[in-house]
Amino acid sequence: MINFTVGPVQASETVCAIGAEQVPYFRTPEFSAMMKENEELMLEFTHAPSGSRTVFLTGSGTAGMEAVVMNMFTRQDKVLVVNGGSFGQRFADMLELHEVPHTEIRMEYGKALAAEHLSQYEGKGYTAFLVNVHETSTGVHYDMRLIADFCKRNNLFLAVDAISSFLADSFDMGTWGVDVMITGSQKALACPPGISVIVMSPAALERVNASSVKSMYLDLKSALKNGERGQTPFTPAVGILRQIHCRLREIKNQGGVKVETARIAAIAEDFRRKIQGLPFEVCSESMSNAVTPLHPTTASAYDIFTILKDEYGIWVCPNGGELSSKVFRVGHIGALTTQDNTTLVNAFKDLQKRGII
Ligand SMILES: *Cc1c(COP(=O)(O)O)cnc(C)c1O
Repeated sequence: MINFTVGPVQASETVCAIGAEQVPYFRTPEFSAMMKENEELMLEFTHAPSGSRTVFLTGSGTAGMEAVVMNMFTRQDKVLVVNGGSFGQRFADMLELHEVPHTEIRMEYGKALAAEHLSQYEGKGYTAFLVNVHETSTGVHYDMRLIADFCKRNNLFLAVDAISSFLADSFDMGTWGVDVMITGSQKALACPPGISVIVMSPAALERVNASSVKSMYLDLKSALKNGERGQTPFTPAVGILRQIHCRLREIKNQGGVKVETARIAAIAEDFRRKIQGLPFEVCSESMSNAVTPLHPTTASAYDIFTILKDEYGIWVCPNGGELSSKVFRVGHIGALTTQDNTTLVNAFKDLQKRGII
């Protein structure tokens, strides 16, 4: 199988080898030291401002999203949330569920965020901005500089779901004034699903410390307190945290986050070049390096996904809901090579020869 989905993605052999080992007991100085290093590497790779902290929460990315909404927002807030697909919708649903006052900036599928979408909200008393920097469902990557400038001008607390973008696109908490960022283990970190990572600036920590969140498992205060000694309040996904450690160190040893982002960008660029001439339209105005969303002009997107899976052993990523027959996505994150791209493009060419596309 070659996996071009957007997560879980292909892991390196070293990460897979850790998955085959026994899972060790974790209330030990060794595990604590490893967790401290995980925290430090995440702070370095996100360019977090000094005094920031990282929490590794056991749960998929959505657990991190909900923990941020529950621990950092209150009924006193007035939140602007970008909703351009299923992940933006998820944030809007969470704000609704947790009774946080909010306004949705609704985006048409595939459209980039522009200044005109924000201008009507200038100086209107908003307190926070919530966005999925890469709306993975449609493959649109929002302009962080535009968002950062808007938030600075309006003094907004800025919370960013960078779950599928971290490592794939450059991300700089310090420069952009991002107060909290969320990522997950199964996207460009290329580990199994099960860990959500939350990096918090001092302003985010202040919000967490002032909050009286009604949840035991998602209480970030207790995660932060335990994290001071490299521990977690409850049994975490120990094996995945060990795989994340291996992966973060691998990235560090190969030159750091810039080198990893450039590697993923090169894979994406290679793929986008190789599909020229095929009956596909790229259906995003502004792409992340993580994913290419494609609209096949001559066949159903879902049929292409199924045939590639069943007859070629290649997994691309189908879309859900109303886009399922119109769009499929090709991921560029995980342990993929340009040779893998060629294999996929050759399969597309074979589908063409067979009259399927
Ligand atoms: C993958 C993803 C998530 C998290 O989804 P889970 O299934 O809970 O891991 C959240 N936001 C975005 C933008 C994602 O790509």
